[in-house]
Amino acid sequence: MNIEEINRQLFDIHKVELHCHLELAFRASTMREWAIEDGMEIGSDEDFEREFLILAPMDDLPTVLNKFLQTRDRLSSLERIERLAFEACEDMYLKSNVRLLELRYAPSFTLEVFPELGAEKLHEAIIKGCKRAEMMYPMAVGLICLLQRIKTNKENMYWCDFAIEHKGEFLAVDLADDEVGYPPEPFAPIFNKAKAAGLGVTIHAGEPYLPQAPQNIVTSIDLLHADRIGHGVQAIHDEKVIQKLVEEKIPLELCPTSNWLTQAVPNLAAHPLKTLMEMGVKTTINSDDPGVMGIDLMDEYHIAHNILGMSIDQMKQCNSWAAEASYIPEEKKRKVWLNK
Ligand SMILES: [Zn+2]
Repeated sequence: MNIEEINRQLFDIHKVELHCHLELAFRASTMREWAIEDGMEIGSDEDFEREFLILAPMDDLPTVLNKFLQTRDRLSSLERIERLAFEACEDMYLKSNVRLLELRYAPSFTLEVFPELGAEKLHEAIIKGCKRAEMMYPMAVGLICLLQRIKTNKENMYWCDFAIEHKGEFLAVDLADDEVGYPPEPFAPIFNKAKAAGLGVTIHAGEPYLPQAPQNIVTSIDLLHADRIGHGVQAIHDEKVIQKLVEEKIPLELCPTSNWLTQAVPNLAAHPLKTLMEMGVKTTINSDDPGVMGIDLMDEYHIAHNILGMSIDQMKQCNSWAAEASYIPEEKKRKVWLNK
């Protein structure tokens, strides 16, 4: 098969994106425009890359954090937020043929620097952007409310209640940030409440390459009611964890480029996506932070096919599992997603 034919076949797959952070899913040209409007000196591609992009494995956390904060500091108005949401959806459809898209965002992350936006208005602006894309393209979009490990339980409970109040628009809750310094256990009361209210639960767990990472997957399932795991890439180092994921049919939201950039895996060829799938884990393919990492979901399919050696049929299987695992209501799914 020649390259064009492979590209066409990869593009043609109706894709499901389950793990994408809205705040880090900006369109580069738009972010550059905002940075210049805000008085930053961004003359060349190198300037933009230095301030906003992570393109090589991270070894220096402050530099990485600075890029996240630079990005967040541009989200200063409801107009920008609405545009961010619309363009994230539009790019997913146009560039990668995504039909079912779940975007997650942390109200606490943006409101920490721009409290004047207000939680309701921020949420409305995001919904407006997503709805505009849903009207224009054959895609369905759902939102996940992201809670931050670094925040207090009181604050996280507040945002959990916010997600419950907006159930329907929010389909699920998530827990993210530093898994090392903030293990899952103390968050149990929050996720008990979210689960009881009927929200889906996906938890970032088993991401960094550390001895306790596989156990965090188990705790997230047993104690926090996770019905999906964000990343979970370190499951590969613990057979019992793999067995649990297979038996309990818990899908993993894997993100190859992101896992390489954070050094969760030493290189792309070592990513366990294909191995886990062949061991019976419901693996799904996702982009995590496409804006800041300078990728599209299509890049992840190229990696899966060209570097990991996954067949088109295997990737279709991943999408089938992702569609099943998506929190988007069945009726909405059926209108836009075909198993192709
Ligand atoms: Zn993530």
